[in-house]
Amino acid sequence: MRHIWPFLLLVACDTPFHAPNEEVFVPPPEYREWHRGIEQCSRRRGAFDAITWIKADLGPNYIGRTEGRKVWIDRDWLTSWYVVSHELLHTLIRDGDHRSPLWEACGVQPNRHLRHP
Ligand SMILES: [Zn+2]
Repeated sequence: MRHIWPFLLLVACDTPFHAPNEEVFVPPPEYREWHRGIEQCSRRRGAFDAITWIKADLGPNYIGRTEGRKVWIDRDWLTSWYVVSHELLHTLIRDGDHRSPLWEACGVQPNRHLRHP
């Protein structure tokens, strides 16, 4: 476990992610409901109110992105249960490689048609 920490620090100190036209926004009420759903299927608890929501033009390769408790949603996908819930699961399990069975259990596994990394 000890040598995992320098790697995590290195990632944390990496250049912060930015996308064009970023704007922090107040999540609509359904995001809180979707968070509850993801908490239930994953059996994890998270602090919904600690999440910073950012809408942006993420470009062709991303529609959502999560770093810690910062979540970016592409402006065209703000009302998508799939995209928001997928990113919410990232805030709960920190599994950047999507290897956990929880992605499928929650119905939010990465979908290449949606061009999620
Ligand atoms: Zn993902």
